[in-house]
Amino acid sequence: MKMLSKLRSLCLLFMLITTGQQAYPAQPGGVDLPDPAQLLSRYVQIPSVSGEEKEAGEFLAGLCREHGLHVRVFTDAPDSYNFSASLYPLDSRKPNIVFMTHLDVVPAGEPEGWTYPPFSGTIADGMVWGRGAIDNKAMGVMQLLAILPYVELAASVDLPYNVSLLAVSGEETGGDKGARIIVEEFLDELNPMVVYGEGGAGLTGLLGTYPELPVFGLGVAQKRRLFLAIESRVAASGHGSVPRERYPTREVVNATKALLDARPKITISPTVSEALLMMSAHERGVRRSIMRRIDFYGPLFGRFVRNDPLIASMLTNTISLTSLTSAEGAYNQIPTHSRAVFDCRLLPETDEARFLDHIARIISPYEVDMQVIQSGPPAPASEQGIFYRAMEESLHDVFEEALVVPFLFVAINDNRFFRRAGVPAYGLLPAIMSEELMESIHYFDERFPIDALHKGIAVYGSLIDRLMAL
Ligand SMILES: [Zn+2]
Repeated sequence: MKMLSKLRSLCLLFMLITTGQQAYPAQPGGVDLPDPAQLLSRYVQIPSVSGEEKEAGEFLAGLCREHGLHVRVFTDAPDSYNFSASLYPLDSRKPNIVFMTHLDVVPAGEPEGWTYPPFSGTIADGMVWGRGAIDNKAMGVMQLLAILPYVELAASVDLPYNVSLLAVSGEETGGDKGARIIVEEFLDELNPMVVYGEGGAGLTGLLGTYPELPVFGLGVAQKRRLFLAIESRVAASGHGSVPRERYPTREVVNATKALLDARPKITISPTVSEALLMMSAHERGVRRSIMRRIDFYGPLFGRFVRNDPLIASMLTNTISLTSLTSAEGAYNQIPTHSRAVFDCRLLPETDEARFLDHIARIISPYEVDMQVIQSGPPAPASEQGIFYRAMEESLHDVFEEALVVPFLFVAINDNRFFRRAGVPAYGLLPAIMSEELMESIHYFDERFPIDALHKGIAVYGSLIDRLMAL
């Protein structure tokens, strides 16, 4: 709020100088901003599982209209409701600061696993409980409530930039019903100069010698996804009592084992080495030396790296077996066909063709064929320029001590569509998340602390101030 009033005073001062008019009260008169916890609770109560986003979208869009934002509904279907809500109409053509959030949530799982019913939005113990509370409804609430105090200011002062909440569908199912449509069909209309979406968060316990210091990972890059299948090529089938040397299920199983057992090469992405270098300043001894020169030491700690799933996901191309099937038959019948599917995640610098060559070499002793089911084009990392620094400094306004480091996101999210289109996109939930809270994402008892909501709103408010001053 401190920063909000700073910008307002600045703009009002500017108006006084240029027009000689009386300044009027900066605080929107008579318009009550929604209470963050109440709003998050109501929003969580609308079960917007992917494919059923419309009701939640209409709820949020309605609220935006009520508070004077300019709403543009891009697509309006039960499974693809996408809208922006902006300080100025999009046809003002102002360069747009876009806060992106997704409307959809993953299914809640068995209700018995929850302390409070998953779509109750219960407020208890200083938290809002329910599916989507963290992913991604808290973020949407923070972003919206940071924008609303600017509505009146924007109406009276010609601010240099527009600010939009962009709410999209289908993030959890790959973004085809949401962010992809926006980028492919409405990018020019939205006119984003920067996008702030989801990605990293603030975590404690990362630094060995200063565990209480929160470290915020501000997402600038992400791995990309490659779905691969291998299928048996041998025609052999027949009776299970006389197995041949090569038959479909055996070939696929052996090739699969070879793939899963292959030791992945350790690659230190620039994003990872930079983050570790920054973190090393808060470390001592051997840890400090290793973190400072991870490009040198990393490959020497191969076993350690590969045995830690989280570290391995940041330093290697990973391969997970996600499906293994064969033709159904009698138990004594050798199936004529078998197939395995792998979810591969590639580091940003990995060349896909070379990766596929590598896979082909590993499975070459076996009678199998490989095919790419789906691959995403690489998205360039967003640079750590003014938009990165604006978020970094805004975090410091609220979390003074925190360390902010660039972050490589190991899954995929909607930011990639914008990065591919050349729009800088940064991924961060501006909240300090305990391990317990992190574990509740996509699981039981998802919940978000109310005080973290307030802090997040302050971060986004501060961010708007900083960007407007550019
Ligand atoms: Zn999410």
